[in-house]
Amino acid sequence: MPAREPDHNTPTAGLTAGWRAWLRLKQPTASDADDIAFDMTAPDQRELWVPAKRRLLAQVADFLIDHDLEILPFTLSIAYDCVTGGSPNLAQQIHERAQKGLPVTLRWLEDAHCAQSRDATAEAIASLVDQLEHGMFDFGRTVAQARDATGTYSTALENHVADLHSAIPGPELVARLAVLTRQMLDHTREVESDMARSEARIGQLQSRLDDARHLANQDHLTGLPNRRAFDALYDRELREARLAGETLCVAFCDIDLFKRINDTHGHPAGDRVIRYVADTLGRIADARCHVARHGGEEFAVLLRGTSLADAWARLDHAREEIAEKRLVNRSSDRPFGRITFSGGIADALAFATKSDALKAADEALYAAKSAGRNRILIAGDLPQTLRVVA
Ligand code: GH3
Ligand code: MG
Ligand code: MG
Repeated sequence: MPAREPDHNTPTAGLTAGWRAWLRLKQPTASDADDIAFDMTAPDQRELWVPAKRRLLAQVADFLIDHDLEILPFTLSIAYDCVTGGSPNLAQQIHERAQKGLPVTLRWLEDAHCAQSRDATAEAIASLVDQLEHGMFDFGRTVAQARDATGTYSTALENHVADLHSAIPGPELVARLAVLTRQMLDHTREVESDMARSEARIGQLQSRLDDARHLANQDHLTGLPNRRAFDALYDRELREARLAGETLCVAFCDIDLFKRINDTHGHPAGDRVIRYVADTLGRIADARCHVARHGGEEFAVLLRGTSLADAWARLDHAREEIAEKRLVNRSSDRPFGRITFSGGIADALAFATKSDALKAADEALYAAKSAGRNRILIAGDLPQTLRVVA
């Protein structure tokens, strides 16, 4: 019986700020286009916004055509951001690349976009850390003031207590003590509320920082760690593997002939297939095995403490599981046919640098594609028995 693909439909996932503004999912900001600065839905401004919309769409279309790019939500949002000034740095990089006569490929665009959002995320986190530091500074100051005040009042009280011991308390001393106690109580309440405010602010900032860190590391479409998180995981796992004298394997997996799925079933169905493969691959993940979306329809896997042969077998099991299913497109009831992926795996510790190991896994992946797809090959020499033929 054909398996139905799981239903995860988040139609606005992955849209950039520009698109969100245009779709009125957020208020336009100063960085959005002038064209969307006025109300694009106000009937009395129709004569303004109809030509503005046409102009904007024509600019987006020109951008995609000039750079020979496919029409995908990803490229559309990049085009929108570039023509509206939402991504001036990326627009500049694209312009320079085109001037040099180099092609603006999807892969280059993904890399450039990834590097840019890495910078933007780093900036956002740095600003939150700044605010957190200020919050902590204020908190520290409140605590210091409270400590000073406590010291002052304690000394005053001690003096009066000494007076109480040496003399019969007269009404004047009692009155002074009452005033002092009142002042101390008032001040304590002020300090308490200052501390509670600072504490609440720090708590708030800490949770915003956690959310930002989480978002910065997660792929929106699949919920898997993204490429940025993968890079950090790689460094951490490499360090741990070296310290513990353990193995570390790295693999790339790429869905086969995926463009055909998009072309036949449309991009949203393609997204659902990516999520399905991500879910299946994601199930092999545990504390020492990480599966990330490296970009497009490509996944990266890290396995620590597993031999190359076992790592291969684990990935191959996922490959087999996916290849055996027959998925049906739930919006058209048409079968997707067999979904497969190819993989390349390398022993990360056998290479001098991270980029050498990644390159070796990538080359093994492309060898798997050339050998007919739906298989996982190991970088370098490997026993014949480990080569799988679909
Ligand atoms: P191969 O077996 O050689 O990998 O062939 P392929 O068709 O999978 O490879 P190619 O790189 O030509 O096409 C990958 C396609 O993946 C191109 C792009 O349209 C599509 N793609 C990239 N990112 C996404 C995404 O987020 N969603 C969808 N639906 N498609 C995407
Ligand atoms: Mg592919
Ligand atoms: Mg690919």
